[in-house]
Amino acid sequence: MKYLIGVDIGGTNIKLALVDKRGRLTGKTTFSTTNFKGKNALIDGIVVELKNLILSNALKKKNIIGIGIGAPGAIDIRTGTVHYLVNIPDWREVPLGDTLKKRLGIPVFVDNDVNVMALGEVYFGSGYGARNMLCITLGTGVGGGLILDGKLYRGSSYAAGEFGHVPINVDGPKCKCGSWACVEAYTGNNYIVRGVIADIKKGQKTLITKLVKGNLRKITPRIISEADHAGDKYAKQVWIDVGNYLGIGLAGVVNLLNVEKIVIGGGVAEAGKILFDSIKRTIKSRAMKLPAKTVKIVKAKLGYDAGLIGAATLVLYELERKNASK
Ligand SMILES: [Zn+2]
Repeated sequence: MKYLIGVDIGGTNIKLALVDKRGRLTGKTTFSTTNFKGKNALIDGIVVELKNLILSNALKKKNIIGIGIGAPGAIDIRTGTVHYLVNIPDWREVPLGDTLKKRLGIPVFVDNDVNVMALGEVYFGSGYGARNMLCITLGTGVGGGLILDGKLYRGSSYAAGEFGHVPINVDGPKCKCGSWACVEAYTGNNYIVRGVIADIKKGQKTLITKLVKGNLRKITPRIISEADHAGDKYAKQVWIDVGNYLGIGLAGVVNLLNVEKIVIGGGVAEAGKILFDSIKRTIKSRAMKLPAKTVKIVKAKLGYDAGLIGAATLVLYELERKNASK
């Protein structure tokens, strides 16, 4: 039997898994990046973990079709270069894909983490079969991956799809990208929580305060949802507002690209129906009639393992494209 390997490089953890050709996970390991001093040690660590994953599942190199890697930031896919990793200070412009390919003798493909999630959703999830689609993830950051005409759209310098940094207002909160009033500056985890804390300090009465026993630093999107589910009107309004900001940004996407689907994942998407209804209402009222009628707004399906399954899917996608161009 042949397998794909998915590798999901996050801020503090790297996850690896064997994935079959139907997108099912069969083995998984996680290790922390914080134990590694510098890029060379980390690359050695990744090589060891990859070899272990293959051996511990009684497999050989020939059983592995390829390794797909999802990593943060813009990735130069020609060499699999990851420009920057947050906890590894000397990690600058590292050709991770080429390096691993040389050391392991297995094909390796690297792409942006949200791009690979979009591929995973198209092959095995809520975006199944979509030709034109935007996949967004809602968390601390707000990311996006675009599928246009059945292909991953990477842009002119591999930086396309940054939905979180689409500006939606003339003035507004500062964003970590250096700009202000971006979608992420209204709908990222930290912004949502900061807004709630500010309202409570101004005297807003809400169940949220009770749920964290007055310790406002413990507020998370999950707590806000808990309050919403218990009938708290303020918490409900928070999700309606977040949905409205997202909907304004997405109305622009709908008008510009006429996508058939928008797949929404990440922790904040767990706010559920109240958030999705608000997004849909805003798109309906703010986008042009025909593209607004066409687009379907759906929740991502691959959940917690989306990064791993997506990374493995990148291998399938790249090999299919290679075969098609022969
Ligand atoms: Zn921004």
